[in-house]
Amino acid sequence: MQLALGLARLAALARQDEWRAGEAQGLTPTQGDILTTLAQRAEGMRVGALAAQIHVSQATASDALAALDRKGLIERYADPTDKRATLLRLSRKGRALAKRWPDGFARVIDTLSPKDQAALMGIVVRAIAALERQGAVSRQRMCLSCQFFAENAHPGAARPHHCRLIGAALGEGDLRIDCPEHQEAHAA
Ligand code: SF4
Repeated sequence: MQLALGLARLAALARQDEWRAGEAQGLTPTQGDILTTLAQRAEGMRVGALAAQIHVSQATASDALAALDRKGLIERYADPTDKRATLLRLSRKGRALAKRWPDGFARVIDTLSPKDQAALMGIVVRAIAALERQGAVSRQRMCLSCQFFAENAHPGAARPHHCRLIGAALGEGDLRIDCPEHQEAHAA
């Protein structure tokens, strides 16, 4: 299928920059994925959730975390909600490295107009939501599953959706895939 071929080409290009950065730092692709994932989670993550997020087994994640620990890039601390559980977060050194980490898809996105970027964002968000429902992708903190999200609250407007938390209209390009304020809709 030509669309699949095109997407594979873009993904390969996007990963090149990240792998190059990983090689320069002595990090494997999995360790690089952990670095960029934890960079989005200042509140910390458990190993199981982290493994699900980057689509590796818990054993693979644990090995990668041990290597990141030895390099001083992560910290482990007791979960304040359950003292028996451990949370992971980036160390100061890890945060500094994450800030310098290349955004592999930036080159691809830069070729698109703002309008096409917004349209593509809507397509990507809905594809992820569909895969979530199939159980192929771990639960994301996305607008589409958030109790504060009102889809098409402003029909016909340039920004048709609405976030009740921030009280603002959202366009397709404003939709979030990983929002720290996300609350599951069914928890309402
Ligand atoms: S709180 Fe975040 S995830 Fe929820 S609707 Fe607003 S922007 Fe989207």
